[in-house]
Amino acid sequence: MPCEQCGAKRVAFKAGRTQGVQCVQCGASVVTSHFSTIEIDETQYELRCRGDYRDQAHVRAVAAATGDNFLVARNLLQQDRPLLMVGQAQEVLKVRNSLLAVGMACEICPEFRWE
Ligand SMILES: [Zn+2]
Repeated sequence: MPCEQCGAKRVAFKAGRTQGVQCVQCGASVVTSHFSTIEIDETQYELRCRGDYRDQAHVRAVAAATGDNFLVARNLLQQDRPLLMVGQAQEVLKVRNSLLAVGMACEICPEFRWE
């Protein structure tokens, strides 16, 4: 996409929380988006949970989240705040919602701003 001002080539740039394209010749820039959408959050989040290993719904939710079988998931739940996954925001959000849906508590590190 050439510059609208002078027709020269434009290159992508990132500045703080802003990204866009900037003309290499005249410097005119167009901001394409801000870092406020979950899709471009590249943070690797750690998701830990608290649940009851005697509760089948909790164990099943953990099994679904980790891809483990029921027994492995139950053993995992017997640990103190087990680490269920490390992943990007969308993935973490999906798992977190599935855990909250069965009444479990979650901790996400670093601070998770996608609700
Ligand atoms: Zn230009």
